Amino acid sequence: MEKVIEIQHLSKAFGSHEVLKDIDFSVKKGEVVSIIGSSGSGKSTLLRCVNLLEKPSGGQIIYKGENILDDKHDISAYRRRLGMVFQQFNLFNNHNVLSNCVVGQVKVLKRSKAEAEKIALKFLKVVGMDRYVNAKPKQLSGGQKQRVAIARALSMEPDVLLFDEPTSALDPEMVGEVLKVMKELAESGLTMLIVTHEMEFAREVSDRIVFMDKGVIAEEGTPEQIFLNPTQERTKEFLKRTL
Ligand code: ADP
Ligand code: MG
Repeated sequence: MEKVIEIQHLSKAFGSHEVLKDIDFSVKKGEVVSIIGSSGSGKSTLLRCVNLLEKPSGGQIIYKGENILDDKHDISAYRRRLGMVFQQFNLFNNHNVLSNCVVGQVKVLKRSKAEAEKIALKFLKVVGMDRYVNAKPKQLSGGQKQRVAIARALSMEPDVLLFDEPTSALDPEMVGEVLKVMKELAESGLTMLIVTHEMEFAREVSDRIVFMDKGVIAEEGTPEQIFLNPTQERTKEFLKRTL
């Protein structure tokens, strides 16, 4: 299967603190990959390096056969092809739900407002938020806000959708509605890279699990391999603490 993104020898340091060390992994088209690991292991930094919210210190990010970290490369074109869903939603609070899903399409993708609204509505339906087009974010629950954030990312029709702990900021009773939407997206064939603490969810929806520990990929495999037959001591310890 075609690799959408391939990471080779990626490293990231903040000053003398090496947060990511020699990370290698790839995401194939249609694949759902979940990244798990303790707090501070480098999961968010890895996602932020993948979408270039952080500048990697070394290594390569291969996209469509080219290393996008080459100086000559057009980083903005690459970034347009990735969607990101954050823990804290990051909605535009002064825009209503529809407008949140439209502005990026108009500004970045140069779509007409009418076309952008049509696409936004399609994805607001997918996440079950089409009845709230005129609501402002502050009128919504956390789960609803996150579903709007997912619709906004989908409206940009990215090649890969990155999620950084999308349910960690939610009240427990709202986690399910967001995971349900994500599960439907996974089953629809979307390419997804997900940082999550929801182990049962990761096990159910992922094609592959990446376990990170202290800035390295300690173990990687299918959900069965990682959750039922982990080979590394630190994976076993992490799972014992988490499950
Ligand atoms: P995780 O998402 O797995 O909890 P992070 O990627 O957020 O881990 O953080 C990994 C390490 O990098 C932590 O030790 C954190 O303090 C450090 N770190 C993250 N971002 C920065 C930053 N902007 N400046 C300095 N250190 C950072
Ligand atoms: Mg994090």
